[in-house]
Amino acid sequence: MVPAFDASFVRLWFALRKIDGVIGVGFGPKIVDGDLVSPRQLVIYKTDKDSAVPDDTGAEIRLPRLSKRRITVRDRTQDCLTDYQWLFWDKIDRLNKRQRRQARADTTHRSAQSKKSKKKGSGPAALPAMTTRVVDNLYVIHDPAGSLVTQVGTETTINFVEAYRQFRREFGDDYDFLAFFVDTESGMPDIGNGSTPIFSDVTGIGRTIPDTRADWNSAKLRLCSHFTWVTLRTMLHEPAHLWCSYVHYRRSAKGPREALLHADFAGAPDQSGLHWGRFVEDGVSCMDYDRCDWHDNRDGTFHRFNHRLDETSPVRAKRFGYSPLDLYLMGLIGPGEVPPWTMICDPTPPINDNNFGPYTPANPPGAFQLSVQNVIFENGPRTPDHLNSPRVFHQATIVVTKDTDPNAFFIAEVAADQAEHVPNFRRATRGLAMMDCSLLRDNHGDLYIKHTPADDGTPSQSGDYFNSPDLWIRNSPDGKANFDSQMPIPGQDSWIYARVRNKGARPYQNVKVNFYVTSTAHLDVRYPNDWHPDRLIGTAIATVPPASGRGSSRADGFAILEVRLPSERVPAPAGASVLCEIIPMSVEPTKLHAVWENRKLAQRLMA
Ligand SMILES: [Zn+2]
Repeated sequence: MVPAFDASFVRLWFALRKIDGVIGVGFGPKIVDGDLVSPRQLVIYKTDKDSAVPDDTGAEIRLPRLSKRRITVRDRTQDCLTDYQWLFWDKIDRLNKRQRRQARADTTHRSAQSKKSKKKGSGPAALPAMTTRVVDNLYVIHDPAGSLVTQVGTETTINFVEAYRQFRREFGDDYDFLAFFVDTESGMPDIGNGSTPIFSDVTGIGRTIPDTRADWNSAKLRLCSHFTWVTLRTMLHEPAHLWCSYVHYRRSAKGPREALLHADFAGAPDQSGLHWGRFVEDGVSCMDYDRCDWHDNRDGTFHRFNHRLDETSPVRAKRFGYSPLDLYLMGLIGPGEVPPWTMICDPTPPINDNNFGPYTPANPPGAFQLSVQNVIFENGPRTPDHLNSPRVFHQATIVVTKDTDPNAFFIAEVAADQAEHVPNFRRATRGLAMMDCSLLRDNHGDLYIKHTPADDGTPSQSGDYFNSPDLWIRNSPDGKANFDSQMPIPGQDSWIYARVRNKGARPYQNVKVNFYVTSTAHLDVRYPNDWHPDRLIGTAIATVPPASGRGSSRADGFAILEVRLPSERVPAPAGASVLCEIIPMSVEPTKLHAVWENRKLAQRLMA
């Protein structure tokens, strides 16, 4: 089911994209004096105040907000710039090219004039060029002259299409997500945090996304995000805009559409359609703006717990995640796994982040329960469902800075943030999805681990693929010389070993192996679900040397990695397995899959 609104939005979107002065097209609820006038009001963003745009569409026409303002309400600066959701990046790219040509012309002109007046001498230096470097898993763009900085009317942004073009000179089209970290301290503009969906084939989430992969010269990208301030919560928030939070609901199958999931929104009302409003009890969801939880006092009143300070707490920052409804919209759980949630509407006193309550909901609409069925009434079922949605994502992390120092603190900071985000995404998705944030060197396909003795890295279901000869358990740490697997001895520590192979001619550095245990029946083990963060045993890192020899004497290069399996983590052995995954993870398959389908996974049945 593609609702009529989506079809007409896409038609309008493509028509308006052809018009010069239009820099983006979006929609959001229109609220006048607190009343919902339209749940999905079309918004046309014009490039600058003098741009000619059609005024016969009934759309709200306004300028996009692309840079952070200095505003006194501190909270407001902690939210994302939603206008980025609707931007035409190919137009930003063209604007930037024009502005760079102009800047070059101006420089040449000044240089010629200066030569004329001085006769001799070198004149002013040309603008310092953009340079790039790879620092472990970060791609760094040093742009001292700010040539990526793009003026859009009175607003400023960064030409991420050009930045991605630079990235693609060294890396493949292997990434679902782009995450740009913008160094404002170096003089880059503060464009806040935001994201633009690039491609989606999902229905039932209240948002059709026109396919703009061609603008990025990519067949793989799904979303581009950027950050000028970073918390674990924001790193969960921005990529989730690929799916969340756009849906409305109906009370009954044939009832009218209601917009209370986005009501009483603290930010600009026309942007509220992208986040959960304050009436929703959405638990730990990172997709609201209030960072508050409702607590039912069971006497008709509710308390409201403000968790805003948790976001910047080194200890409690991990409390934010995704609600069951978020996970459903992301395609990670089925509708049957989403418990009903409470709506607390128009309470007395009015919601105030500094007031703990108690709050008494108005009557009506008062407090009521919604379930995922109410969302399905309005949006249709989420398609593809959780069994057929992608679970394995790759994200490229790209630093944009004016600083030319390769040892700049900002680079190290981004590396640390990204390293924390990887396990945090896994935790927040309950292990149902994984985001590999490593940069894939062009020989990443040479790395593999054998599923069976005959396995050469080609997926095959033949043989006991759940008994990898490259994954074994030892009762003492002697596994680098002893390759047969032993049963763990109760009450004693064991050691797990993995042999990662390289069939290529070049070494691969910083290969990471994560070791897990699972009690899932060995034939039912699926990736990534059974590589669950709660059952992570440990991680080891090594460089895997290249293959050696020629012809029939050619042998894989390999490295053996080891972790200790503490006695208290040993599962009841009957039917339990030890698992490992190699990072960088394969780009394919992306959906739930068995161990034999993926050369970066191994399983060893303990029985
Ligand atoms: Zn947002």
